[in-house]
Amino acid sequence: MEKFLFSIAKQWIAGDSMQQALESARLANKKGMDAIINRLGEHITTKSQVEKTVKEYLNLISNLKRSKVEGGVSIKPTQLGLSRTKKECLKNYEIIIERSASSQSFVWIDMESSEHTDDTIGIYLDLFDKYERLGIAIQANLKRSRGDLMRLLEKGAKIRLVKGAYREKKENAFQSKREVDENYRTLMEMLFVKGNEFGIATHDSILIENAIKLSKAYEKKFEFQMLKGIRDELKPELLKKGFSVSEYIPYGTNWLPYSIRRLKERKRNILLLGSSFIHSHRV
Ligand SMILES: Cc1cc2nc3c(=O)[nH]c(=O)nc-3n(C[C@H](O)[C@H](O)[C@H](O)COP(=O)(O)OP(=O)(O)OC[C@H]3O[C@@H](n4cnc5c(N)ncnc54)[C@H](O)[C@@H]3O)c2cc1C
Repeated sequence: MEKFLFSIAKQWIAGDSMQQALESARLANKKGMDAIINRLGEHITTKSQVEKTVKEYLNLISNLKRSKVEGGVSIKPTQLGLSRTKKECLKNYEIIIERSASSQSFVWIDMESSEHTDDTIGIYLDLFDKYERLGIAIQANLKRSRGDLMRLLEKGAKIRLVKGAYREKKENAFQSKREVDENYRTLMEMLFVKGNEFGIATHDSILIENAIKLSKAYEKKFEFQMLKGIRDELKPELLKKGFSVSEYIPYGTNWLPYSIRRLKERKRNILLLGSSFIHSHRV
């Protein structure tokens, strides 16, 4: 089953190695996009694994500079020890951000499930005081996000707005696509009115059209951000219209949780997986 799953998942992933991620990033640059590279992996609980991940990101950032790749990295807090302690996670982000500051690459903090939201925002605000080239993802499916965004924008924070990829309880989160999209629209408007340097991270054509309209009313520095392998036909269209686009490029061997989230986002992907499984079992 894993083999079939991988045959679908590989469209979203650069490959197992950092070299493949850098190649994918160079290709994105060639097409006119910046690259946002993520080393796959999450919920790391051992100190040695966390340390290994920190070293990997330091190496990646040096390689970005060496290979003159335009863009940066995006890191999940539980890759850097948040499942162990907030203090350890904060220290590790700081080590990585110091390295990236010297090479001018941007660091994004991915947002994970809602039990981590408070700590993640706390870490972001601590670090944003000292490092400017740092952004954080905010999820439109969470009911708390409007308040969080208001607080973050008061500090001048750099935001990536996403719909949210994690299953959440209905006490905390909007459940229907209609409600999530409505909240996305509200938060996006807040970004255009009060924010600057933000990422509109969605593949949703209607929301992208909304953003284009808002960009005419408010002159703000922003970019569209999309995942590798999704809406590849739309990326050059946006570039052609003069918008900035970044591509989020994951790599590494731990591809399963990321791929399952992508599969669930679209019924057609599940059907594709089913039909590929059936075909491969025909003689
Ligand atoms: C750059 C970037 C960074 C992200 N970072 C985070 C993060 O830190 N935390 C977090 O919780 N989430 C993150 N996400 C994921 C996000 O929350 C959504 O789960 C994901 O983007 C799907 O939502 P959507 O906005 O594309 O809208 P949807 O309503 O899911 O999709 C809209 C349309 O996009 C296309 N599409 C969407 N997904 C797929 C797919 N898998 N395969 C093929 N077509 C598809 C389809 O045409 C679909 O109709 C990130 C997304 C992006 C683009």
